[in-house]
Amino acid sequence: MKQVILTGDRPTGRLHVGHYVGSLKRRVQLQNSGKFDQIFIMIADAQALTDNAHQPQKVRENIIQVALDYLSCGLDPEKSTIFIQSMIPELTELTFYYMNLVTVARVGRNPTVKSEIKMRDFKTSIPLGFFAYPVSQAADITAFRATAVPVGEDQMPMLEQCREIVHSFNSIYGETLVEPQIILPDNKACLRLPGTDGKAKMSKSLGNCIYLSDDEETVRKKVMSMFTDPNHVRVEDPGRVEGNPVFVYLDAFSRPDHFERFWPEYKNLDELKAHYQRGGLGDVKIKKFLNQVLQDELAPIRERRKQWEAHLPEVYEILKKGTEKARTVAAQTMHDVRAAMKINYFE
Ligand code: ATP
Ligand code: MG
Repeated sequence: MKQVILTGDRPTGRLHVGHYVGSLKRRVQLQNSGKFDQIFIMIADAQALTDNAHQPQKVRENIIQVALDYLSCGLDPEKSTIFIQSMIPELTELTFYYMNLVTVARVGRNPTVKSEIKMRDFKTSIPLGFFAYPVSQAADITAFRATAVPVGEDQMPMLEQCREIVHSFNSIYGETLVEPQIILPDNKACLRLPGTDGKAKMSKSLGNCIYLSDDEETVRKKVMSMFTDPNHVRVEDPGRVEGNPVFVYLDAFSRPDHFERFWPEYKNLDELKAHYQRGGLGDVKIKKFLNQVLQDELAPIRERRKQWEAHLPEVYEILKKGTEKARTVAAQTMHDVRAAMKINYFE
């Protein structure tokens, strides 16, 4: 069977370091591994509109921002097809038919849907389109017959729901759709990177992000004002590393060579953690080190972004070509789905 990747992001803002460690970095590795026959990267504008219906301008502007983030992280349009979701009507069509295979109660039990509804404070005014977004995600994944979906941990319930839809479709209409596997980051800290404010998830909608496109000084300021262990008041106090965002970021980003280059007093992160837990190590020192580590990772990304920013028409051309290519593949699946569902009347 062909090995196919599909994944993507909502154009609700520029991408942040949570996206980077949770999904983006892995995508680039998988892209360059040569193990995949096709890679589709989707800018999910239709999904972004499900909770941003009144802000079309925001979604429009962020299409190019997300595309720039992709290219600056190393997604290569020669190897990965980058496309815009709303320009592929087959995805909407598939969503409509899949909705008949899912109950309202089942979506209501989806833990990510639950927490996203709570986060957005929808109360009883949940847009119907937003509620249905797990079904639309299933359409996106299956339209490309994706076998692998590299995403962050919050997407696990979405993948489960997608697999249920595939089972249900195939058992009613005959073997048509491909069942996808989730690919999670292997580093536990990257599953769900917390916000700089200590909230459980760094998220565009929460304003607690370090963006890939932030300049050096902005990153430094954000790091220096990060939430840490609130009980670590004086330097001598023993500190907590579990759930302390500064240490979670170090878990996600630091490598032994960072210690060698920036802080040779410690051999590795375990030594640093042990000192913090014993007491006698101030937050400022650790934040300075974290800043160096982050700048080291982000500098080349920033540099590439600047180059692409000077060639915006080329970026739009990449999106246009990618969308055309993606549409051909989705149309083939839609053709098979129509045949399986017996709604191909004129054939
Ligand atoms: P929004 O607030 O608009 O939902 P978001 O910041 O949650 O935006 P998405 O576009 O919903 O970002 O998510 C894109 C991808 O990034 C998904 O695969 C998701 O799992 C991953 N991701 C998002 N935030 C994090 C995070 N804090 N840590 C790890 N992965 C993340
Ligand atoms: Mg999200």
